[in-house]
Amino acid sequence: MTTVFAVANQKGGVGKTTSSVNLAASLAATRKKVLLVDIDPQGNATTGSGVDKFDTDYTIYDVLCDEVPTEKAIVNTPEDSGFDLITANGDLTAAEVQLLDMKSREFRLRNALARIRDNYDYILIDCPPSLNMLTVNALTAADSVIVPIQCEYYALEGLTALMNTIEKIRTVLNPKLHIGGLLRTMYDPRNSLSNDVSNQLISHFGDKVYRTIIPRNVRLAEAPSHGAPVITYDPKSRGAVSYLALAGEILRREQALKTQPAAAS
Ligand code: ADP
Ligand code: MG
Repeated sequence: MTTVFAVANQKGGVGKTTSSVNLAASLAATRKKVLLVDIDPQGNATTGSGVDKFDTDYTIYDVLCDEVPTEKAIVNTPEDSGFDLITANGDLTAAEVQLLDMKSREFRLRNALARIRDNYDYILIDCPPSLNMLTVNALTAADSVIVPIQCEYYALEGLTALMNTIEKIRTVLNPKLHIGGLLRTMYDPRNSLSNDVSNQLISHFGDKVYRTIIPRNVRLAEAPSHGAPVITYDPKSRGAVSYLALAGEILRREQALKTQPAAAS
């Protein structure tokens, strides 16, 4: 059974793309078949996966707005990353508006992924930094949401809006949607604010917060400019180890959900 994860938070710079790329690579390293779908017009997940965002035949824009079959838009990432990718670039900016006039506008991504989802164990969708129609498409296509949260100032701001959106989409468009987990990113144990944010998250969200913490680690910031996930760029770095640990935690949580479906919400 395939699980589709949307990696979402309407705040920019919280670690959505870093988490999408590195989780895709870490799940692939455990021999899972993984597809990463970039739906941010900035195309950072595409570039960070080592693929030129201006040099693929098709992007997610063509799939969502031009009826191009999904399988035609899938490209391989460089050999040692081991996952597949659907790319995005600035063309996708137009989709935000074009989608509004389309039939089944909230379901375009879900329908597109239905054609190929059985070929994968995990599909990850890297969302843009807003709650626009692209993010609505991602949440409608997803089984589960991963919410990266930067352990710094204003981290919790906007979280209520995101939770309300998820709840609304669950009620109206996608009843199986659930929160996979809140992921603490860029954690710096020397910064007391990091600890404060972390404690607040746990007191609000309890075991919805992943146990794995992603530390602030310069290797994670450097890897995209080498077009590689951190487990390829520097496999021994703390960043690499933490995303591998997250993949392990997600696999265990998924397993527990499958054996205890009542805990799924
Ligand atoms: P988003 O996709 O939410 O906008 P990014 O993943 O692009 O966020 O991260 C924003 C910036 O922070 C990028 O420059 C990225 O390289 C850097 N970054 C992300 N996570 C970490 C981390 N754990 N340690 C250090 N730098 C990080
Ligand atoms: Mg991003």
